[in-house]
Amino acid sequence: MDFDKAFTEQLDRLKADGNYRVFADLERVLGTFPRVKNHGPGPDEVTVWCSNDYLGMGQHPDVVGAMVEVTETCGTGAGGTRNISGTAHHHVALERELADLHGKEDALLFSSGYVSNWAALSTLGSRLPGAVIFSDALNHASMIEGMRHSRAERVIWKHNDPEDLDRALSLYGPDVPKIVAFESVYSMDGDIAPMREIVEVAEKHGAMTYLDEVHAVGMYGPRGGGVAEREGLMDRITLIEGTLGKAYGCFGGYVTGSRALCDFIRSFASGFIFTTAIPPAVAAAAATAVRHLKTSQIERMRQQRQVARLREGLDRMGIPHLPNPSHIIPVMIGDPVKCRMIADVLMLDHGIYVQPINYPTVPKGTERLRFTPGPCHSDADIDQLVMALNSLWKQCALARQVA
Ligand SMILES: *Cc1c(COP(=O)(O)O)cnc(C)c1O
Repeated sequence: MDFDKAFTEQLDRLKADGNYRVFADLERVLGTFPRVKNHGPGPDEVTVWCSNDYLGMGQHPDVVGAMVEVTETCGTGAGGTRNISGTAHHHVALERELADLHGKEDALLFSSGYVSNWAALSTLGSRLPGAVIFSDALNHASMIEGMRHSRAERVIWKHNDPEDLDRALSLYGPDVPKIVAFESVYSMDGDIAPMREIVEVAEKHGAMTYLDEVHAVGMYGPRGGGVAEREGLMDRITLIEGTLGKAYGCFGGYVTGSRALCDFIRSFASGFIFTTAIPPAVAAAAATAVRHLKTSQIERMRQQRQVARLREGLDRMGIPHLPNPSHIIPVMIGDPVKCRMIADVLMLDHGIYVQPINYPTVPKGTERLRFTPGPCHSDADIDQLVMALNSLWKQCALARQVA
């Protein structure tokens, strides 16, 4: 078999559909984020508008300082799995910090948020005999893969619809172990789950709740504990999962919950056991970011201010964006080729970098540009973005929305 030919044929189809992914070749410059060096087509310096380093913590002096200091004192890698020589005191301290953040007894670190969802859900689904997982229709790929791998029965309920969840749960008897899996902030539409209603429905049916707060930790709640903290619901959610790679500006993922729950996953999850622990310096930097955002409100307040400012600018120009209560601003294009073209012009002519979001990340026909303003974007950055979009809307005769 000509394998390369087989690969190329599928890639050609992807390209023809406008869904082929091209990575921007960038270089972050400490202290100037969101301004970065560009090694690809376009100006040498561009402004990033689609980063998940939502609060700029990836360049915070204390966070950078912790990573440098621990690298210099402990070296680079962890040197093993958590079980075989890889547990550093920095991992233990970070797990304590995270358990405290979510008001839980314990926490468990993973190589990434993706791995934490995959490993935790596959372990829960496979090790609880007869378990059924009730999954929100728009759950992240990492949760879907974990549920699939568990081979547990999976019931999909309508996105953010507690009534549909209630109906789905009612079909199963009281002796069936039930897991309700959902997210707080959904990353592509930026909508937020009706968490209290979902928790109440789950409690009514004796189900455990599995909550992905990846796009909320650090940004919501008085200590950055996420939407569950803001809503006063942390103690009613069985397991809270998060990432250290987004608002905390580092790398790694985690789950938090009761001591027994964390011990269970620690002891049975292949994706936790058989992999090298994250570098101690990364754990130290992440702990610094988590600790900082437990008390500092400046980053969160300024993020909210800049988000509101960009929304107002878009409204002024009639540029359609999805209304939602979060920090994520999706500007809907609805066509993969147009979406890529607009992103290319923004990059080449304006030095504005926003990645076009196409299928399969979002459904076909809902292609979009996803902007994530943060505390490091200046008012001038926002004005420049709005002007650039306005001129593009004129140039391409794109539809406007009348206020
Ligand atoms: C990004 C993301 C993850 C994975 O987190 P990483 O640390 O980047 O692996 C999990 N869940 C959701 C909803 C995400 O958007």
